[in-house]
Amino acid sequence: MVASAVALASVVALAGCVAPSEPPGGGGDGRTIALLLPESKTSRYESVDRPVFERVVEEECPECRVLYANAGQDAARQQQQAESALTQGASVLVLDAVDAASARSIVTTAQARGVRVIAYDRLIEEVPLAYLVAYDAVRVGELQGQALVDAVGPSEGDEGVLLVHGAPTDPNVALLKEGLERALDGSGVTVLAEYDTPDWSPDKAQEWVQGQLTQYGSRVQGVYAANDGTAGGAISAMRAAGLDPVPPVTGQDAELSAVQRIVSGDQRMTVFKGIREQARTAAELAVALLRGERPPAPEEVGGVPAVLLEPVAVTRANLRDVVVDGGVHPVEEICVDP
Ligand code: BGC
Repeated sequence: MVASAVALASVVALAGCVAPSEPPGGGGDGRTIALLLPESKTSRYESVDRPVFERVVEEECPECRVLYANAGQDAARQQQQAESALTQGASVLVLDAVDAASARSIVTTAQARGVRVIAYDRLIEEVPLAYLVAYDAVRVGELQGQALVDAVGPSEGDEGVLLVHGAPTDPNVALLKEGLERALDGSGVTVLAEYDTPDWSPDKAQEWVQGQLTQYGSRVQGVYAANDGTAGGAISAMRAAGLDPVPPVTGQDAELSAVQRIVSGDQRMTVFKGIREQARTAAELAVALLRGERPPAPEEVGGVPAVLLEPVAVTRANLRDVVVDGGVHPVEEICVDP
């Protein structure tokens, strides 16, 4: 189902040369790409996705321009940002949807103007997309769930785990849950309670875990947190409640703060997802579309040509290999003086 980042980069590079071209001349000014990201509480968007995307477009197409907008978790704002990008001449939208349902009308409006849309990180169903550039989210959930099961073992007596899911409006969340269930099924781990975190908000995750701790206290063996932001919230709640050591917590994104918590022992794991490759691939495909090319993609998801990146579970055991040697965060940024 998934291809490696290196293979993908070359697929995209090669594909641009061999694929039959479509005539240029869709909507927009033919040189503008809009990058529409969903929120900024999760650090990846401003610190990795955006700068890598802008740099790659600049390298691949110096005459192109990128219009960037971040919706701050507000679906209506994302709609306005998309409309404004279209008015300003965008010929391709790279859209990471706040709310997959309301993003459909962004896609249909764009399509009506001859503007192509690349779904970035989150699939938008039932509308014509040029590409999906994402990762295998079911696999992410499975990696997180397996790490939790390995860390806590079968539950005994009245103990169990808490599940802190992401925002229910995000289509990736259902896929993460599917993978998580696969790992929990038959593991003997009991679920005490679960929560859909509105807007993926770390504060709301913290508040919810805090409430659960007053009810379950030391019966909590571990916490499934769907990403590093919610993991940070869960860990703060457990620290404030005086749990020492903090029970195992999962995460996702390999954010710097999460990697630091893995080193200090506060977080059990995160999932590294090749966000740089994701941004690079989307930028290359967007430039190709601007030029009227239609590179073939290695996969298809719901009829949409798709590039899916492979997630990797990161614990203390492989942190050096994946995060440091893999160039995600340099050691001097991870290990700062307290
Ligand atoms: C992304 C994660 C991110 C989360 C919150 C998900 O759709 O795949 O990387 O942490 O949204 O923005």
